[in-house]
Amino acid sequence: MVYQRSMPPEEMVAAQLELLMQNGRMVMVVTHMVGVAAMVMIFWPFVGLRGMLLWAAGFLILLLIRSLHMSNALAERRFRSAPRRLYRQLLIGTMLTGSIWAAVYIYAADKVPVSMQYVLLLLIICLATFTIGFSVIVREYFLAYVFSSLWPVAWWSTVHYWQQPHNLVIGLSLLAFCAVLLAVCNQMHQSFRDMIALNWEREQTSRELGDMTGSLRVRNHQLQQARQKLSDLANVDELTGLGNRRLANRVLGEEISRARRAGTPLSVILLDVDYFKHYNDTYGHPAGDAVLKTLAGLMEGACSRAGEVVARYGGEEFLLILPGADVGSAHRTAARLRDRVRAARIAHATSEAADHLTVSQGVVTALVDSQLEPQDLVRRADAALYRAKARGRDAIETD
Ligand code: GH3
Ligand code: MG
Ligand code: MG
Repeated sequence: MVYQRSMPPEEMVAAQLELLMQNGRMVMVVTHMVGVAAMVMIFWPFVGLRGMLLWAAGFLILLLIRSLHMSNALAERRFRSAPRRLYRQLLIGTMLTGSIWAAVYIYAADKVPVSMQYVLLLLIICLATFTIGFSVIVREYFLAYVFSSLWPVAWWSTVHYWQQPHNLVIGLSLLAFCAVLLAVCNQMHQSFRDMIALNWEREQTSRELGDMTGSLRVRNHQLQQARQKLSDLANVDELTGLGNRRLANRVLGEEISRARRAGTPLSVILLDVDYFKHYNDTYGHPAGDAVLKTLAGLMEGACSRAGEVVARYGGEEFLLILPGADVGSAHRTAARLRDRVRAARIAHATSEAADHLTVSQGVVTALVDSQLEPQDLVRRADAALYRAKARGRDAIETD
């Protein structure tokens, strides 16, 4: 999967709007409520308590509406579904709030003493300065507030420079202050954007890493499966599905070590089909293959104890490994196997031992000493098998 490296503009806008509402909602309400409270306490003797309270109530309702609007927009994720509309609504809200402060100043200018007027101006400036912290995430939102609250006051003061002694100074100073705020807000706004973009890129990278880890895990699993398949191919006989000579030798080595440690006996049976060459000559090679498969099934059925292994050791020779089996037990297994083969009554017209297929078996039981090697056991089983063949076949010989 290929990820975009730089943040798309629409993502940036959505993130800015979300951050602004998340962080700014409560600050906006609290800051203005403090402003309203200060206003009521300071100015009611000059304007009248009833008028002040009415104004305060109106202002608080506006704040409440704006706060609810932001909560809903956040809950409905409108910063993604309708960012432009939300952006406009937010600007209207902040401009409305700002212009109320400007209107209050202009209204109060000739109703309160000049000193009180300066207090009011200070309050408005403080509010504008405090709001910079959160609202500058969307620069226009901040500018809309500053210009709707301070610009009319600056304009009014400059135009009415003759009405009061310091109006011109106040007007020009406010214009300069607006310019300073503009510069500061540009700087802060850029830092916020950089922070949002950095965060976004970090998220992208971690997602990319997550995907790569996932696909590596899948690859690893596939590799393990392939390795398992290869190991099966190397150890399993294709025709019968039994373990092959390589597996038999490995298991024999492991079982000898185990028997040596545990001090338990270990038995093996080497089984060879009687007159199998004749069988192939009489019935054909494919029929011979089918017989080998049938015998494999019979042997697996006869060795059902845990740890017992049947392997195809050569062409039509099979090795049965019986961990823990003593002489009697191993002989019983061989007899059971012989009976099963007899019971299967696989016709063999050219056998000199019977009119059906038979097997000969050499059984070895060893109490493992430190000298015993896997090949010793097989050699002894082979010798016993040879004796069974010499006895006329369809026989079991014990070492
Ligand atoms: P006996 O063991 O009783 O002395 O006689 P035999 O005819 O079985 O002699 P031997 O064990 O030497 O013969 C092995 C025969 O097994 C030779 C070969 O045709 C046959 N054989 C070996 N592998 C396969 C196989 O995969 N499929 C088939 N159909 N025959 C096989
Ligand atoms: Mg043979
Ligand atoms: Mg044979």
